[in-house]
Amino acid sequence: MIIKILTLFPEMFKGPLDTSIIKNAQDKEILDIEYINIRDYANNKHKKVDDYPYGGGSGMLMTAQPVFDSHAAVLAQIPSSKKVRTIYCSPKGKIFNQEMAIELSKEEALVFICGHYEGVDQRIIDELVTDEISIGDYVLTGGELPTAVIIDAIARLIPGVLGQKESYEDESLYSNLLEYPQYTRPQNFRGLTVPPVLLSGNHQEINTWRRKASIKLTMERRPDLLKKVDLSKEDKEYIKFIKTDD
Ligand code: SAM
Repeated sequence: MIIKILTLFPEMFKGPLDTSIIKNAQDKEILDIEYINIRDYANNKHKKVDDYPYGGGSGMLMTAQPVFDSHAAVLAQIPSSKKVRTIYCSPKGKIFNQEMAIELSKEEALVFICGHYEGVDQRIIDELVTDEISIGDYVLTGGELPTAVIIDAIARLIPGVLGQKESYEDESLYSNLLEYPQYTRPQNFRGLTVPPVLLSGNHQEINTWRRKASIKLTMERRPDLLKKVDLSKEDKEYIKFIKTDD
């Protein structure tokens, strides 16, 4: 997947996208991430990239010209056969979730425009952006951290990025169920023991235990998600059992 990040602060990505699994994905050439400094495209003497908002109000807005020009430059680098989506992270956007991560992980090319200060001139959003995405109902100082969060969530879904051992299909939210509790060695840690079924070696019983644990946790913490789960007859009986047990 080709990823181009338009930002005023490329150094903010050094840690999150240059470490561990996401770094390996780049080494394996599954991900091709490039950082473009928007300031390099400012066509004024002092490389100014922000200005006061018309109509007044606090803070500065990122101006249209350097963003339009840097965006055009990266589009010119992406083969025209590839569909490109341009994402602007914003608290006004659609709230990001696993479903969106799965959808975006199937794309060939993504361009991220990172806002900063009070945000960007609306014409950037109207003309260049295909998706406006929020990572939650809170306000951050810039779009760099949300962009890194979204890329991390997307990248690990691309085939070849995670090893088989780190498969994501059992994980929380993949099938709208929260993941069951997990344990590793030792069996007894300071008197705290592992549920015996997990040591039984009986895979059918382990799977049943895990499915029930996932359903129970999702019912307790995210009943909204449970409505979207494809429930079997056994699942429905278990839910009925929990409800009558309460
Ligand atoms: N004035 C903007 C508003 O009220 O919607 C907020 C601007 S915020 C201080 C600066 C930048 O951070 C935004 O342009 C956006 O790119 C990014 N940002 C802040 N919170 C975000 C969130 N929850 N999700 C995604 N991006 C966010």
